Amino acid sequence: MDRIDKNRRKFFQTSAALVGGTLFYSIVKPFESNAQVIEENEDKTINPLWGMGVDIAKCIGCGKCVSACKTENKVPKEPFYFRTWVEQYTVKKDGEVKIESPNGGMEGFEQSVPNEDIFKSFTVPKLCNHCTKAPCVQACPVGATFVSPEGLVLVDETYCIGCSYCIQACPYGARFMNPIKKVVDKCTFCYHRISEGLDPACVEVCPTEARIFGDLRDKSSDLVKFLQKNPTQTLKPHLNTHSRVFYNQLSSEVK
Ligand code: SF4
Ligand code: SF4
Repeated sequence: MDRIDKNRRKFFQTSAALVGGTLFYSIVKPFESNAQVIEENEDKTINPLWGMGVDIAKCIGCGKCVSACKTENKVPKEPFYFRTWVEQYTVKKDGEVKIESPNGGMEGFEQSVPNEDIFKSFTVPKLCNHCTKAPCVQACPVGATFVSPEGLVLVDETYCIGCSYCIQACPYGARFMNPIKKVVDKCTFCYHRISEGLDPACVEVCPTEARIFGDLRDKSSDLVKFLQKNPTQTLKPHLNTHSRVFYNQLSSEVK
């Protein structure tokens, strides 16, 4: 609880510094490199600095990550609630883009577009981006959404009043109202697991190692090696949220 109180104080201090917030959204730098983002914007006291890489070319859309996340984090079984989900993008030869995520991709995908009409098709795992400049943190009126000492964006369930402002503020659709707990829920990078030195459940079960978790400050980590090797991008970089989920081979069709 001490950790949470300390970070709530930090949240209020940060909020005061960002009053108005217009500068926050007005900087548009769509092609920032990962190195730049991390170097320029991270609080140097955050160490380790957890992040995730997603190698889209390796994702086979099996949905094991979605299923493992639901089990690990007791996410309600209904097909509306996901801490992580997978989307299938199908770009047709006529230019139409079809985006599907039946049951969050949990049971995999069936291709409904005839093969001869497909220009390309791929699957994209999504989750909370643990944004460095997180709109959800700014939107929460009671400080229930806060930044952990490791820079993770978490929700203190005992403080959440269920107002849903953070759900509306998240531009990635990464939050939902937990129908059982009546508080907001989302990915924590499996905080309880990584605190014990384990990988998040989605990373552990991925059969193709399409998800790479690690410490962005550790040059020997698989994540940093992945970022060094690949020209990755983040989702919606123009929003200046400084996401910590980095995608390799991110097509322009991905929203
Ligand atoms: Fe908040 Fe959404 Fe960013 Fe996650 S992805 S930190 S929920 S704004
Ligand atoms: Fe893609 Fe791995 Fe998830 Fe399967 S488990 S959908 S390969 S990220």
